[in-house]
Amino acid sequence: TAADERTLAMTRRRAELLGPAYRLFYSHPVHLVRGEGSHVWDADGRRYLDVYNNVVSLGHCHPAVVEAVHRQMQVLNTHTRYLHEAILRYAEDLLVTMPTPSEGQRVGHVMFQCTGSESNDLAIRVARAATGHQGVIVTTEAYHGATDLTAQVSPALGSGVVIGDFVRLVAAPDPYREGEGAAARFVADVVAAAADLDAAGLGVAALLVDSIFSSDGVQPGPAGALQGAVDAVHAAGGLFVADEVQPGFARTGEAFWGFARHTPDADVVTTGKPMGNGIPVAGMAARPDVLAAFAERFPYFNTFGGNPVSIAAAQAVLDTLRAEDLQGRALKLGGRLLEELRGLGARHEAVGDVRGAGLFVGLELVTDRATRTPDRALALRVVDELRERGVLTSVAGPGGNVLKLRPALTFAEADIDWLVGALDDTLTALRA
Ligand code: PMP
Repeated sequence: TAADERTLAMTRRRAELLGPAYRLFYSHPVHLVRGEGSHVWDADGRRYLDVYNNVVSLGHCHPAVVEAVHRQMQVLNTHTRYLHEAILRYAEDLLVTMPTPSEGQRVGHVMFQCTGSESNDLAIRVARAATGHQGVIVTTEAYHGATDLTAQVSPALGSGVVIGDFVRLVAAPDPYREGEGAAARFVADVVAAAADLDAAGLGVAALLVDSIFSSDGVQPGPAGALQGAVDAVHAAGGLFVADEVQPGFARTGEAFWGFARHTPDADVVTTGKPMGNGIPVAGMAARPDVLAAFAERFPYFNTFGGNPVSIAAAQAVLDTLRAEDLQGRALKLGGRLLEELRGLGARHEAVGDVRGAGLFVGLELVTDRATRTPDRALALRVVDELRERGVLTSVAGPGGNVLKLRPALTFAEADIDWLVGALDDTLTALRA
């Protein structure tokens, strides 16, 4: 069709102009022109349900964010070497969301960046300065960023990326395959990794994990499951760095921060994606005693990080999350979504497991329920078929077979019906 030809021409032009390092979703890419709430529209006026969403948690073009950014942009936007009241107010509002740890200081300082990559990069440097150690423990499918340092702790980038010699990989806890022993196995692996780093003369600076293990295939685990691993890294003289780029800002429903479902004992917390609902803003928050050693040695400056316009967006996000109790909504709607997807699992043999916390849900497709063998090929076909039914999502996990379902926290009941109906039809069609 004419529309197909337009898409093809645009895809070619993009490759010519932007070069070959990028990867677009779908063999026939989606060309979006507008968004509102949980929905986006393509150039042909077709409406989609955005279930991949891990940035615009309040929904696309949320009026509170649009208005706040517009207002501040008309007043002032500067680099970040001047005083600005709104930045302090936001820092106060953000820091009170940090849990009280079992012992020691609370996370009490926050520094601003533009991307999650920068925040994790800084977090590793802070952890190294605080501990005097070099080693970092991450999960086998982790993604933590696009800088040189964070790419070295991001095996999700594939075989082309060189994992740093200061890195030790541990498999994320997978209760579906490991049963109740998953958390204990994870602790044992962290202990062994820390010992190995010690033996190599590097020591362990940090256990750096995304507590929902998004790129490891969405592994929320039972609440509290990570406490043992956090205690283990502390005992080994390292810090626990919680990468909240994915699970942060109320998405998991049970707590404002993903890690806080498991433990109050984060030393460093990094944030990004949903923080500004689409405006680039990210943060690295740390306990004051942890930040001190870094601050003594290095000044820090980030031209755009936490500028007044980004902060206006971030403040609007935080205010809206609170005013509309979107954490409560994530818990309630997430519960309903899990229930419906489990119902779907009862009708379709290919659904091996459905798991989630709040509105962060993974649906695992398998070739055989007894062996739990990942069905990567089916998962890819499901993603393509869902797109035909107007639902945008993607896959994750070591087997590439886990559908990642992350709708806006403002997802409507009718959107759940759309998603579950489309999945039901897709699985039926692919079985035929
Ligand atoms: N950490 C995690 C867990 C992420 O998912 C991502 C982005 N996918 C990042 C860090 C990097 O964030 P950014 O793309 O904003 O640099």
